[in-house]
Amino acid sequence: LRGPQDAAFDANARLFERAQRSIPGGVNSPVRAYRSVGGAPRFVQRASGPYVYDAEDREYVDLVASWGPALLGHGNPAVVDAVKRAADRGLSFGAPTEGEVELAELVRARVHRDGRSPIERLRLVSTGTEATMTAVRLARGATGRSLVVKFAGHYHGHSDGLLADAGSGLATFALPASAGVPAEIAAQTLVLPYNDEAALRLAFERHPGRIAAVITEAAAANMGVVAPDDGFNRTIVDVAHADGALVIMDEVLTGFRVHAGGWWALDPAGAVDVDLLTFGKVIGGGMPLAALGGRASVMDLLAPLGPVYQAGTLSGNPLAVAAGLATLRAADDGVYARVDAAADRVVAAVGSALSAAGVAHAISRAGNLFSVAFGLERAPRDYDEVRAQESWRHPAFFHAMLEQGVSLPPSVFEAWFLTAAHDDAALARVEEALPAAARAAAAA
Ligand code: PMP
Repeated sequence: LRGPQDAAFDANARLFERAQRSIPGGVNSPVRAYRSVGGAPRFVQRASGPYVYDAEDREYVDLVASWGPALLGHGNPAVVDAVKRAADRGLSFGAPTEGEVELAELVRARVHRDGRSPIERLRLVSTGTEATMTAVRLARGATGRSLVVKFAGHYHGHSDGLLADAGSGLATFALPASAGVPAEIAAQTLVLPYNDEAALRLAFERHPGRIAAVITEAAAANMGVVAPDDGFNRTIVDVAHADGALVIMDEVLTGFRVHAGGWWALDPAGAVDVDLLTFGKVIGGGMPLAALGGRASVMDLLAPLGPVYQAGTLSGNPLAVAAGLATLRAADDGVYARVDAAADRVVAAVGSALSAAGVAHAISRAGNLFSVAFGLERAPRDYDEVRAQESWRHPAFFHAMLEQGVSLPPSVFEAWFLTAAHDDAALARVEEALPAAARAAAAA
């Protein structure tokens, strides 16, 4: 994979070559491999605030933020201290801890609107994949039904049933689904176009009494950002509930990032009556932690109270809980105001740089999350519209930014992530880099 940009064959490229001899593709999660942009991925040796440092110790303004968790910026001292103090008390006990109770209470208190919270119970797991997988099992256990509805371009982790048309890495590598998923399992998932009320109603008309749940990203952000149409989340709830199906709102990416209470609390169409929510990323502040929560009548079907089994040796790990607690406690209104303002500033700069270079584009947003679609006139509303963009402009744009010290998500199908640590100096560097990158995109 030595591209022209690896001409120097630097420490990153050497590490990548070595990595590929013992790790499939040299990476432990596919989009890290830079496959769609080319070249050797930057191996990160450390990160601080808005910056990451590669194997050559080059500094980049980081707009990946660990794909979401680093809301406060990298290495936030309060979070790191909390983890160190937790480590001094032991790494893992396989027994309940007070911190887990505090975190459940804090999540309930934060995900709150108009005097109510959709979260009566919360269970901690280690990854977003586990959270959504368990939520689906729980919905099936609660309803005695098998089918699950998901939307094309929505990513809910890599459990078998949720990998069809799943956006994110699959979109990056143009895979409709994953090999290794039995047809019998794939057949239990109905994939619908997003923001399409008619398709949703039709699915329930065709399969009355057979759909256990609709799972939806609270605001889609794994095919680039595609916010729900105003009121679409409410429509999902109304249509599903009318048939006795549950609604799982996946806030792994949006939760505690777009707002203190996630998209559920921010949605301009108001609070909706979802049954289960899933969280990940920010809730663990950079440590492996995720959660599912919801109505007690459903959540209490989980073992040990009920017949739906779920467990985890490292679930509620004390270091991860300490990081999550410290992150959420620090994430006050001021933090969200800073992240929102940083996003506003970058959105404005991207738009004017691309316009000045004559590159047609649409910037789609959901709160402080956004993504850039090349060649579109308006923000895409579903996966087909997302895929109609001129994605081939992205590698040139990406590498021009990287050469100027700005690390973007290495796929056009991913959101850009700002943090509260993106200060004026970091944002100014992004602004300075954009015009040349926009020209590179125009020339691509
Ligand atoms: N759901 C959503 C909405 C996500 O964005 C992700 C991760 N990008 C997941 C689930 C899966 O989380 P994890 O990678 O922690 O398994």
